[in-house]
Amino acid sequence: MARKDSRNRQANEAVSKFKLLSAYGGPGSLVHTAYGSILISCIEEWGFLNKVKELYNEALQLAEDPQAYVKKQGGLQGICLSNDERLLRELKDAKRIDNLLFLTLIPNIELDDFYNEIEGPRAHLAINSEFMPKIFFDKRDHLKTYEQWYNAWTREKEKFFPPKYLQSFQRDGAPFEVPIPLKQDNIVLICKNGHISDFPWAHFLRWRIEQPHALNDEIDLYNVQPCCNRPDIQISETAANATGFDGKWLKCNNPGCSFSGGTSLKGIMSLKLVCPGHKPWESETGPPASYFGKPEVRRAQPPAEACRRSDTRIALTTGNNLYFSRIMTSIFMPPELFMTEGELRKLLLEQQLERAMNAKNFALCMTIQAEIEVLNAPAMASASINLEENRDVRFRFQEYSAFAHKSEDEINISRKDLFVNDVTTNLADIFRPYFHRILRIDRLKITSAQLDFSRVEPYESGSTDIMNRNIFRSRAENVLSYPVVENFGEGIFFAFDHNAIQQAETDTRRFSRLLNRRRNRFAEGATYFAETGGWRLYMTHTFAHLIMRELEFRCGYPTASLSERLFVSNDAETKMYGCLIYTAEGAEGSMGGLIAQTRETNLNDLLRSALVRATICNSDPLCWRSDGQGLFELNLASCFACGLVSETSCEHRNIYLDRQVLIDSTNGFFKDIINRLK
Ligand SMILES: [Zn+2]
Ligand SMILES: [Zn+2]
Ligand SMILES: [Zn+2]
Ligand SMILES: [Zn+2]
Repeated sequence: MARKDSRNRQANEAVSKFKLLSAYGGPGSLVHTAYGSILISCIEEWGFLNKVKELYNEALQLAEDPQAYVKKQGGLQGICLSNDERLLRELKDAKRIDNLLFLTLIPNIELDDFYNEIEGPRAHLAINSEFMPKIFFDKRDHLKTYEQWYNAWTREKEKFFPPKYLQSFQRDGAPFEVPIPLKQDNIVLICKNGHISDFPWAHFLRWRIEQPHALNDEIDLYNVQPCCNRPDIQISETAANATGFDGKWLKCNNPGCSFSGGTSLKGIMSLKLVCPGHKPWESETGPPASYFGKPEVRRAQPPAEACRRSDTRIALTTGNNLYFSRIMTSIFMPPELFMTEGELRKLLLEQQLERAMNAKNFALCMTIQAEIEVLNAPAMASASINLEENRDVRFRFQEYSAFAHKSEDEINISRKDLFVNDVTTNLADIFRPYFHRILRIDRLKITSAQLDFSRVEPYESGSTDIMNRNIFRSRAENVLSYPVVENFGEGIFFAFDHNAIQQAETDTRRFSRLLNRRRNRFAEGATYFAETGGWRLYMTHTFAHLIMRELEFRCGYPTASLSERLFVSNDAETKMYGCLIYTAEGAEGSMGGLIAQTRETNLNDLLRSALVRATICNSDPLCWRSDGQGLFELNLASCFACGLVSETSCEHRNIYLDRQVLIDSTNGFFKDIINRLK
């Protein structure tokens, strides 16, 4: 149970590790707590990551092996490292953080009396945050910045938190003061370059009155003077029946203020505001041990950079356009499964080199170094351009190649992190020609890292209008440790037979019509993805959805507890057609239930029933004949009633779906058997 912190520290509250690394949470995101909305700081302010850095430096001083030292000493303090070497390499490459050494698991963080502490040992390993917005109202709707309220607080400063003010009363002729909680403002300014700012009310007041006809002009409010030098701003309701800002009146109560008459807030949501470029998530909030209302944290003016976009918008702090994060997920693979022989040899040599360096055996270092350089040479020559869209395909192709082509024994070399059973032979004859392999995955480890975040709209690779922001503020070469979340699960992997796919034909005219429809620019990235994947993307994706929906019908798994991972590529070098359906610990539905569906009878029933069920939709014939529905109208024969799953289960926002491409009796992939299955 969360207890209130009586001292002037951060907003201390238990925050789930999954909330700190999700589509909606991470550095720069707002989290709503009992004390108000707080903004999560960049990773340089995360206590446990700094601890890793500290331990690393200790290891260097003691001439210990850094990996082993950090692992051991960190472990004693509740800090664990991920062993997902593949994700580490990929992150280095994707973020150009060449000196990254440690993927650090975000620990469970619990509220303590004084600190956001890691469960267990008492080390101050908090994830820092600060209030956002930093504007608070008293009961009479007078507003001041957090800093102003703090400065006005006359009792012991440590008792200011959670933010409150003293109101004077009279009792029996004697004055006394009562602390009353402050109410936080609920709007912020956000821009497509990722900045976020408080709304500058006093500046707005002056501008609005001085320039009464400028409502449609671009305005740089942060460069306008405030109404006076001691603003005492109040926002009051003028018309009870008006909604939102239309019925609100802004004024200044400072007797010397020339703008005390005030102004209506009507039209405020459509202002064309110039962005001041604020990056409050990069301010210095830590270390928490010395945090007694650190001035940098109270200050209303956060770190800033040049931006000057004039399409900044006003957003509610509860709005869903404040934060979008991109997460990179990895299925753990032992190095032997994804590295070439040369790469494995190099890895070994690098480890030897590190040991030789620690032992100060420089002659040996040189020999090893020379051998590494020989290995590096051909790799450099064949290095292809690392286009971002190809990165994800190559990364998944490593997983697909292992799952589709390696033997059980080859895969199961690190059983606690990955354990599979080949159940392809459980398939009935009728299904054999369509599948290359089906794996029962008893144990898999999914590790996730956040790539970046954006505001206003999600960032897609190639976006020119939206800027993606890093979760770190240092120079890339100084990032030594990166936060990740680890999750164990179980799943079923399906790989389609490539020959069957090669020979399959579909009514491609339906797809050309779909992709040639006129769409707005928001659909550009999504349409490009559909074009690249083509009908095989639709086929694989719809199959994954039908299986998830069937699992819900059959075993009562809510689809929200299931996840899909698609393996689709038409490129010769990374050709793959398959999917993984998995469930992770913590999700509803008991573990073990999913893999039971791979037993012989279950598996064939699952496939048969999923395909047959898809032949009928409550919205047919409308749904079956649709030439574009769903988000961006990028679905064909697929709707809520027949092919969509819970938003959290789908990798692709429930688009690229079509039942016809799978089960149409003349053109579908399963056309030869669909009528026999019924
Ligand atoms: Zn004023
Ligand atoms: Zn900006
Ligand atoms: Zn439908
Ligand atoms: Zn999906």
